[in-house]
Amino acid sequence: MRYIKHTSASICNKVQSYSSDDFRLVSARYPVSVTDYYASLIKRPDDPIWKQCMPDLLELEDTAQDPDPLDESALSPVPGLIHRYPDRVVLLVSNRCPVHCRFCMRKRLVGSGDVQMSNDAFYKIVEYIAVHSEIHDVILSGGDPLMLDDASLKTILTELRTIPHVAIIRIGTRVPVTLPSRITPELSALLQEFHPLYINTHFNHPDEITPDSTTACTFLADAGIPLGNQTVLLKGVNDSLETMRCLMTGLLALRVRPYYLHQMDLVQGTAHFRTSVRKGLEIIKGLRGHISGLAIPHYVIDLAGGKGKVALLPDDVTINGSTLLIRTYTGELITYRDISEKEEE
Ligand SMILES: *Cc1c(COP(=O)(O)O)cnc(C)c1O
Repeated sequence: MRYIKHTSASICNKVQSYSSDDFRLVSARYPVSVTDYYASLIKRPDDPIWKQCMPDLLELEDTAQDPDPLDESALSPVPGLIHRYPDRVVLLVSNRCPVHCRFCMRKRLVGSGDVQMSNDAFYKIVEYIAVHSEIHDVILSGGDPLMLDDASLKTILTELRTIPHVAIIRIGTRVPVTLPSRITPELSALLQEFHPLYINTHFNHPDEITPDSTTACTFLADAGIPLGNQTVLLKGVNDSLETMRCLMTGLLALRVRPYYLHQMDLVQGTAHFRTSVRKGLEIIKGLRGHISGLAIPHYVIDLAGGKGKVALLPDDVTINGSTLLIRTYTGELITYRDISEKEEE
């Protein structure tokens, strides 16, 4: 498998206020990469774009959290594959990304040595999926799968499509946000050959909705690819109701359907991005009923130890036998009579 050629920005001119010693110290442990395009979205130091891509000494201070809290390595039956849920698997087809997000859940892998998946490793994965007929949903992840060149992507998708029980293929990618020029009509036409194929992208802030990222999403949506979005709830970046309303409704207008709002994973080097779960629930409460239901993601925590994702909801119902007291989006309390256990029989 081969990667596309691309150059990451020389960010130093954007970073005058940043001491280069600190920069080097952090990047020696957690490599830095930013595209020219993504760096161009920075309006001032410490703004939401800056915080997502610029190294911070706080990354080194977090030594308490685990590099792999979700136990992904333990759930890997063959290298490059995570099989946690019975019917779906994640393929780590690339360990490259255009931008190294400072809050990355796979901080332990990304940028480390830039290894390419060998054909041998890939065919072992295909073999595993082929003999596990319970697998219906294959998720390409990484790194960013769209860092592979078109020919490599075509090989991967063609091989997966030879397995009859693989019903859907998903690609998880932040490329529409960080390197939108990678999304060409040619790439979209290639992906279109492998339907049903879904893409989940990763916008975290309204400032990432630009003419370029809009064009990228338009190419994909016009190729009939259903687009979803996974946002990570990040302190100082998007942990406000106003920002989230703007982001989620903005995405819908791009034909991108908000899918998940992720509580931060407890990954080493990212603790300074954590918000409380209270905050996340408050945001969901402030979205539901106030904006289009299509714009509302599920708020999920991916539990440590590979226990899986659990959706959390604000507590809006008090159950008292068959009488329910339900709180509406405006805060009004309404009584709802449920059928009783007797009536249910
Ligand atoms: C998130 C995840 C999936 C996909 O979960 P969905 O809820 O179906 O989107 C599959 N496998 C692993 C290991 C995951 O972390």
